[in-house]
Amino acid sequence: MSEKARKVYAIDRGTVIDHIPSPKAMKVVEILGVEQEGILTVGINFKSEKLGSKDIVKVENLILTAEVTDRLALVAPTATINIIENSKVVEKRTIKVPREFKGMLRCPNPNCVTNVEEVDSHFVREGEISHPAVRCHYCERLYKQPEDLVV
Ligand SMILES: [Zn+2]
Repeated sequence: MSEKARKVYAIDRGTVIDHIPSPKAMKVVEILGVEQEGILTVGINFKSEKLGSKDIVKVENLILTAEVTDRLALVAPTATINIIENSKVVEKRTIKVPREFKGMLRCPNPNCVTNVEEVDSHFVREGEISHPAVRCHYCERLYKQPEDLVV
């Protein structure tokens, strides 16, 4: 770990979301909706062997559950979640990227039945987990920037 990255991890208790593909950190914060809770630190553009460059988001004094962090599946599927207690990483987990997304995304097609009637959206993931695209189950349109569809 680089010296810079080590500084980001230096907290007593909280959650560090590492390996976020740059520049998705702010989108991650938006989806988690944690702006109001605890101290939030956003690190942008760290060097990463795996990703080239990566962002890190740190939330102090807040332990994020898998249910919450799995909402990052389409924005930061490569992210690793580090739970820190007493200044030590006590849990490390990855994000589960489901094959189907129901009610989580909004179809941008104004003529799609999900925008015309009271029908929950339903998308199916296609392509690589690291670069997911999603196809609307109803109008069958394919979207290559699925993070823009997150509601
Ligand atoms: Zn649709």
